[in-house]
Amino acid sequence: MTHTPSTQSPHISVVVPLLNEEESLRELYEKIASTLREAGKRYEIIFVDDGSTDGSFAVLQELHARDASIKVVRFRRNFGKSAALSIGFQEAEGEFVVTMDADLQDDPAEIPGLIHAMGDQFDLISGWKKKRFDPLSKTIPSRFFNFVTGKVTGIPIHDFNCGLKAYRREVVKEVNVYGELHRYIPALAHWAGYRVGEKVVQHHPRKYGHTKFGLSRFFKGFLDLMTVLFTTRYIRRPLHLFGGWGIFSFLLGVAIDGYLSVEWILGRTSLSNRPLFLVGFLLIIIGIQFISIGLLGEMITRQDRGEQTYSIRETIR
Ligand code: UDP
Ligand code: MG
Repeated sequence: MTHTPSTQSPHISVVVPLLNEEESLRELYEKIASTLREAGKRYEIIFVDDGSTDGSFAVLQELHARDASIKVVRFRRNFGKSAALSIGFQEAEGEFVVTMDADLQDDPAEIPGLIHAMGDQFDLISGWKKKRFDPLSKTIPSRFFNFVTGKVTGIPIHDFNCGLKAYRREVVKEVNVYGELHRYIPALAHWAGYRVGEKVVQHHPRKYGHTKFGLSRFFKGFLDLMTVLFTTRYIRRPLHLFGGWGIFSFLLGVAIDGYLSVEWILGRTSLSNRPLFLVGFLLIIIGIQFISIGLLGEMITRQDRGEQTYSIRETIR
C-alpha cells in the first residue's frame, strides 16, 4: 500500500499525541488513512511520541516507511500531552487540524463530520463523548470538572477534555498550549475570539494498555483553571480581579467598624467586648492588601507591553 506524496499541502492534518500505545497504532493508522482516503482528502498524520518506553516508536517508523504522509516527532522523554499537542500544532500544515487520542477511544470515522460541522460558523469543533465508556471513577469527577469549567469560563460546552477536536489552522497556530492547558484549549480559543462549537462523537472503551492520567488529573485540572483565568482573562487588568474584591472587603469593614464606633461614641457599647470590631478591622486590612496586590499586578503588566494580546480575524488594505 503506497500513498503518493502530493506536492500540494495537505487539506487535513491529524495530530496524535501518544505515550506507550504500541498495540493501538497500526489499527489507528489504518482507520484514519482509510477514512480520509474515502473522503478524498489530502492528509498528513503527525504522530508525537511523548517519550514512550515500549515499542511505539518502532511501529511509527514502520508506518512512516509505508506512508509518506506520516510525520513522526519523538520527544527525548515524557513531556506531557500539552507539549505533544503543541509541537504537533507547529508541524501541522493542513487547512484543518484534527487532534485525537492514540488509544482508539476516539473514532477516526468522526473526522469528516467534525470538519463538516465547522461550516462557516465555527473555528473549533470540540467532540462531546455523550455516551462514555470509561469507569465511573473517571466519569463522575469529569462531569463535575466540566460543569465548573463551563460556568467559570462561560463557554457552553459539555466535554472540555475530549481528545477529539477539529480546528481551523489559524487557531492552532495562535493558541499557546503549555503546562497541562490542553484541557482548556476551547477556553483559550474562545477568549481569543474564535468561535467554538460542539458535536456529539462516538466513544469507545480502551482496548489496550491503560489510562495515563490518574485521579490527580482533577486537582491539577482545577489549579490549571486558575492559571488559565489569571494568565488570559486578567493578565492585562489584574486590578479588576483583585481591586473589586479589595474594595468590597474594605467598604464592608469600614461600615461595620463605623457602626460600632457610633455606638461607642453614643456610649451604648464598649468596644472591648465586641469581636465584630476585629472582623471589621480584618476586612479593612485584607481590602487594602487586595487593592495593593492588584496595583502591583498593574505595574508588572506595564513592564511587558510587547506581547500580543489581541487576535485579528482579517485585515483589508
Ligand atoms: N498521552 C501523552 N502523554 C502523556 C499522557 C497521555 O501523549 O503524558 C496520550 C495518550 O497516549 C493518549 C492520549 O494522550 O493518546 C490520552 O491519554 P489517555 O487515554 O491515557 O487519557 P484518558 O482517555 O484516560 O483521558
Ligand atoms: Mg483514553
